[in-house]
Amino acid sequence: MMGDTFTPFRECPHCGSTLFLPGPRGGASMNVTCAECLARFNVVMSKQAPIKLIEHLSGPRQVAMGSNRQAGVDLDTIRRNLP
Ligand SMILES: [Zn+2]
Repeated sequence: MMGDTFTPFRECPHCGSTLFLPGPRGGASMNVTCAECLARFNVVMSKQAPIKLIEHLSGPRQVAMGSNRQAGVDLDTIRRNLP
């Protein structure tokens, strides 16, 4: 809705990480998992608009392993690489 204000989703609200693992995508929405605490979120993203949190799906679950952290990508990179 025009004029609707929201806080763009930039970092995990649990641990402050800005690295996420991209998950399944449907239409404009995508599931992303925090690379640090493994909390999962459903967000809407497009190449043009700020990322909007739709739903907090689960987590945080645990302290992630180093391998998760290394696989994490910042949200702007995920957004830029959208098809
Ligand atoms: Zn987190």
